[in-house]
Amino acid sequence: MTNRRSFLKGLGALPASTMLASETGFAQGIERDHFSDIGVKPFINAAAAYSALGGRNMWPKVVEAMEYARERNVIMEELQDAVGKRLASLIGCEAAMVTGGATSSMTLGTAACITGTNEELIRQVPDLRGMKNEVIIQKSHRYSYDHGVRSAGVQLIEVETAEELERAIGDKTAMLFFFFLNDAKGQIKLREFAALGKKHGIPTLIDGSNSVPPLSRLSEYLDAGFDLAAFSGGKGLRGPYSSGMLLGRKDLIEAARLNNSPHADTVGRAMKVSKEELLGMLAAVEFSLSFDYSVENVRETRIVHLIADKLSVYKNITTKVSYPRTESGRPHLQIFWDKSLTPLTVEQAQKELEDGEPSIRTCYLALSDGELEVGAAMLKDDEVDMLVQRLGQVLAPRAG
Ligand SMILES: *Cc1c(COP(=O)(O)O)cnc(C)c1O
Repeated sequence: MTNRRSFLKGLGALPASTMLASETGFAQGIERDHFSDIGVKPFINAAAAYSALGGRNMWPKVVEAMEYARERNVIMEELQDAVGKRLASLIGCEAAMVTGGATSSMTLGTAACITGTNEELIRQVPDLRGMKNEVIIQKSHRYSYDHGVRSAGVQLIEVETAEELERAIGDKTAMLFFFFLNDAKGQIKLREFAALGKKHGIPTLIDGSNSVPPLSRLSEYLDAGFDLAAFSGGKGLRGPYSSGMLLGRKDLIEAARLNNSPHADTVGRAMKVSKEELLGMLAAVEFSLSFDYSVENVRETRIVHLIADKLSVYKNITTKVSYPRTESGRPHLQIFWDKSLTPLTVEQAQKELEDGEPSIRTCYLALSDGELEVGAAMLKDDEVDMLVQRLGQVLAPRAG
């Protein structure tokens, strides 16, 4: 390990072009093993682009755009204006803004429905005394991320039927909220829900976070009648991890922006987005629109079947390809073993894979069918053999 002084001396000896390359971070090879320097252990991601596992990897075009922005100074409001306009025209919606993620979009969208453009009310959020402070949601649409809505200070009013929803609407109702993934679970379906908002003049917001790809989803919910839609930038769109979009009605996007950074006395000041992320989000949408996502699907399908094929040499292991609801139709592989030969629970098998060398992460039980399950979205081609080898070792027949 070189000390700082010899490192600096070394830099002085480098030709200018090499210095530039190392400063942009695209130099050949690893100059510093940052994770191991601080004792953080990387792992093979045989699960999915879960937020807790670091999300999706950014498109190289996104990193390029962020690097471009890093070198240049612009007025943040002007940039948000221009990026918003470009996004709206690419997506085909009235207005758009970049946020710190789908959750942030939900807080800002909710705040917008409460305050409009009234600056006094904006300063007061999340203390909603004397203001509209209720958001109506179907009971079956309650989930962990509705905290993003509650962050604006509102109470969630739970209903089950359209009749109940209409009865719950009153002076205090700021917004109606819908979670796309639970459409099938609720009695009020997506279009009917949006229509009820229209009928009563109450704005509707949908969390469409990880429903992209297909890219058509970006406009689909708005076309179905929703006033606002929230999306993640760091998932299928492969933009910056801490980016997202709020799309929809122009007046509401304007109000959401007034509730946001760079305005200091706002709820959104805690969710600021950098100029690099703003431009990165735009680059992600541009590139994703031009990208043939079937290529990803073909690759993941091939890898999942390859894993199944390679595992078939282990007589005590069987596999099944599945398409979990939470993963927008991506193929996953469920892995079963003869419990009488290998008396391991799924949790124990996961733990052994995580603790091994290299560390391997598989799908969360809560997001799978409760079996050991792997996905290929984040798995590299050259990691397949290691994964198969470790699965074979961990699940090998052993004495109870
Ligand atoms: C990831 C996720 C979110 C949060 O999105 P962020 O962009 O990370 O804030 C919300 N809802 C669902 C269903 C998600 O999967």
